[in-house]
Amino acid sequence: MANSFDNFIAGEWINGESYLENRSPSDTSDLIGLYAQASRKHLETALQAAREAAKLTRDIPLETRQNALAQIGRELVSRAGELGTLLSREEGKPLAEGQAEVKRAGQFFDYYAAEVLRQEGIAIDSVRPGVEIEARHEPMGVVAVISPWNFPAATASWKIAPALAFGNAVIWKPASQTPATAHALAEIISRAGLPAGAFQLLMGSGGEIGDALASHAGVNAISFTGSVATGRRIAAAAAQNLTRIQLELGSKNAVLVADDADLSLALEACLAGAYSGSGQKCTASSRILVDRAVHDEFVARLAERVAALRVGHALDKETQVGPVVSAGQLAANLAWMEKIRASDAKVLCGGDALKLKHDGHYMSPALVAESRNDMDFNREELFAPIAAVQKTDSYEEGIAVVNDTDTGLVAAIFTASLARARHFQRHAETGCVSVNLPTAGTDYHVPFGGRKNSSLGAREQGRAAVQFYTQTKTTYSRAG
Ligand code: NAP
Repeated sequence: MANSFDNFIAGEWINGESYLENRSPSDTSDLIGLYAQASRKHLETALQAAREAAKLTRDIPLETRQNALAQIGRELVSRAGELGTLLSREEGKPLAEGQAEVKRAGQFFDYYAAEVLRQEGIAIDSVRPGVEIEARHEPMGVVAVISPWNFPAATASWKIAPALAFGNAVIWKPASQTPATAHALAEIISRAGLPAGAFQLLMGSGGEIGDALASHAGVNAISFTGSVATGRRIAAAAAQNLTRIQLELGSKNAVLVADDADLSLALEACLAGAYSGSGQKCTASSRILVDRAVHDEFVARLAERVAALRVGHALDKETQVGPVVSAGQLAANLAWMEKIRASDAKVLCGGDALKLKHDGHYMSPALVAESRNDMDFNREELFAPIAAVQKTDSYEEGIAVVNDTDTGLVAAIFTASLARARHFQRHAETGCVSVNLPTAGTDYHVPFGGRKNSSLGAREQGRAAVQFYTQTKTTYSRAG
């Protein structure tokens, strides 16, 4: 019998009314555990506890808060090997990626532990003689965090850590695909000495508990990362209560390989950007635009490398690309491959379901060539190990294609020209730009987010987080 894991509500571990089976996408016979599903009643209890806790969290002495976050960060970093293995087992990314993610999650807590001591306001002279003005940050109150499965530890941590650092109470609804990582992270946070209700874990279905949480007037701010479709629903629900929202959504990121690019550098970046995490990244390089002058050589070399990628069990050290997250995701990816094969584009390699030693959701990484930007697979986010190449005639055409999309998280350019790189940096319609670097892979102490349909609201990460997790109070005072 598999172990069962409960929700953390009002400082207690609370049974679910039902439990969800969590199986490894690398091997569906591997049952990781049974995870409690929260009910509406649990949600109401959690909201009530969060309201009470928010009255306390705002006044927790700074060093106590700082120590709590630092303790969580230290434990995550020191247990990155063990917890990264659990993450890879349930999500399917190769072990090294899972372990690096848990370490990164710890770094977010570590970073925001220090940020606790930088609660800076401003003092401003008044236009009225004898009046002093101060503008200070105060917590929002109750913050709902709704996170996706593809970075189950890091995404949640870059929201939970600043929310707690700035004195809020947090209710976390993690993705249903990755409850084991969520539970492990919650267990660590539960021991940090925060007041009951300051941090709560509500595992449960997005359509029910996620929707009820996002629609509740008792929530003061919602930070969400996930698909554009769910983001729209959350925005509509939040609008009814005028709740502050921060949405980080999907993207259709492009890499532009210019005629003067270092092709070896660009090749490694495309491989990592398109296929790590099985392409299930909001920063994935799904459109690869290659200048005519270097196109044939680059594409031939890239196809050879993609075809050689070793697909396997996430915990096998030889694995370079793990399974995709679920049977549903695999079916959707294979359906895209059928559409691609029926189009004018050419599949150079991959795109097939794989039967391996273990019964998991495996497919061979696909590289598509001779594609155009108006093809549906170049417009919609696939979230799959599938990348499509487009041939471009000039840098000017290339950047126009980069920007010809509804989303705008990251764009990358490979070029030896500083002038082009600078032009690209200024004219790419994205929140993040990479020059001679992959689209995927960001630092934790600087702002992260996109433009167009990729993001809404204040930026995440680094010092930018203060904008979302606090509200400004302006005080006017006269001495005597
Ligand atoms: P998703 O289906 O939108 O789910 C994300 C989260 O929202 C999950 O916790 C989900 O719960 C919950 N949810 C689902 N329906 C909801 C509703 N009606 N109301 C409230 N919550 C609801 O996305 P996903 O498939 O997990 O993640 C993949 C997407 O995330 C991709 O589009 C990717 O680009 C995006 N992403 C963006 C970033 C970024 O920073 N821009 C980073 C990572 C991922 P359940 O799991 O229970 O359904």
